[in-house]
Amino acid sequence: MREHSDAGRPSAQGTSRRAFLKTTAAAGIAVAGSGWFEPPAAGAQVTAAPSGTGEPGRRYVIRGGAVLSMDPRVGDFAQAAVLIEGKKIVAVDPKLDAPGVAVIDARGKIVMPGFVDTHHHQFETALRAFLADGLLTNDGKPAGAVNYFDYILGKFARVYRPRDVYINELFGSLSQLDAGVTTVHDISQIHHSPEHSDAAITALMAAGRRAAFGYFEGHGDKTAYPGDAARIRKQYFASDDQLVTMIMGGEIYLPGYEKAWEIGRQLNLPIAAHVVGPLGMTETFDKLATAGKLGPDNLFIHMTGISETGWKATKDAGAGVSIAFPIEMTMRHGMPPILKSLEMGIEPSLSVDVECTMTADFFTQMRSALTLQRALVNQMAIEGRKDLPDLLTSRDVIRFATLQGAKDLKLDRKVGSLTPGKEADILLLDASAINVAPLNHVPGAVVTLMERSNVDTVIVGGKVRKWRGRLLNVDLPKLRVELEASRDYLFKAAGVKPDLFRR
Ligand SMILES: [Zn+2]
Repeated sequence: MREHSDAGRPSAQGTSRRAFLKTTAAAGIAVAGSGWFEPPAAGAQVTAAPSGTGEPGRRYVIRGGAVLSMDPRVGDFAQAAVLIEGKKIVAVDPKLDAPGVAVIDARGKIVMPGFVDTHHHQFETALRAFLADGLLTNDGKPAGAVNYFDYILGKFARVYRPRDVYINELFGSLSQLDAGVTTVHDISQIHHSPEHSDAAITALMAAGRRAAFGYFEGHGDKTAYPGDAARIRKQYFASDDQLVTMIMGGEIYLPGYEKAWEIGRQLNLPIAAHVVGPLGMTETFDKLATAGKLGPDNLFIHMTGISETGWKATKDAGAGVSIAFPIEMTMRHGMPPILKSLEMGIEPSLSVDVECTMTADFFTQMRSALTLQRALVNQMAIEGRKDLPDLLTSRDVIRFATLQGAKDLKLDRKVGSLTPGKEADILLLDASAINVAPLNHVPGAVVTLMERSNVDTVIVGGKVRKWRGRLLNVDLPKLRVELEASRDYLFKAAGVKPDLFRR
């Protein structure tokens, strides 16, 4: 009996779907325009990417995809065309007529802005998963013995050579590009000499991805932080019209941070800092807050365990907040402050933090943000609490992952949404894939179903960088060998014995 009734349901739906199609056809409305999603034709040819993308004057159109623009003034479309010229978006239009222009067939794909990661320590790429089960600090228990401060910062970071910096930065950049993270804020605490800084910057530039180079501390006699910021700014960042920009690091837990903040402000650079209350930073942060030192140029990372004074000053200053949900949960930074942040009216951006402990892909970020906030609110609901905060939606966390990230890196005039006039940092996500089809809700599919294998095509500044599942013009086997050689050196120099099954 059960089989019978189950079998009846699709049939009833099929009838109403047929009726719907008939009605719309009679009314002369294209089916795709009425909210349904057109999959690609079976056996559709895989063609080459258009040539010369991103070059001045080069036009092409991304046609037939479901467009999630993340700009309320542009809106969303079950099917629309996105016209690119040079590095910019010219139009997002369901009825675009552009004869003679090269076409990227986006049928079966979701077309959306690239993800923006507002805090990532890319120098740790060679140390991936080394600290999968680790805490920030040694808590005196056996599980805390191999921890972030003692091993990653205390042992590994100290022995990086410029060449290690370069290959770690490049490989980490390309890996995130492959996963659809078109912009990163890289914070690599390996500025042991100006050559180390040069290596980090040239690697970020070589990756051809959008990045904010975060100039943070280094160690040893040759470190020129923070004073070398002036040279770096002049040598590499004189122009604002390039993919890589600069942010000044000003860690409030390190002596002399006041000087770094002063230099950053003199050079007209945004200033970023980790703020982790449980590591003893609440008092310093309160002091800065009450002294009126916070500004709209600040980006504060983590913000766990921060006082009411600190939060209020952050809000009043218009500073940005970056939350690294999975890392904060697993490494004991404190509870990710999503409820407090939203209560203050501050939308956070998302950050992957460290690949020694967690993947740098953004689907993991968005799912963690969504499920944690909903878990907290759902528990309040079960307990009968009044004045429940609104539950986050999939669209909310995509906004954190795109537009808010761009705002926090001061790049929202350039990227973060599919807005005509902005630069074209665009993803085509495969909604016809086995783990996603059939498509019934665009933001929901991106956040709750997708992962990096669904990142079909990636465009940065108008240039196609990943095409039909493959990064273009990159010799990954060669780079991987170089990264492994760096890894071998780092373990040896740091005096850490490799152990693939460490308990
Ligand atoms: Zn960090």
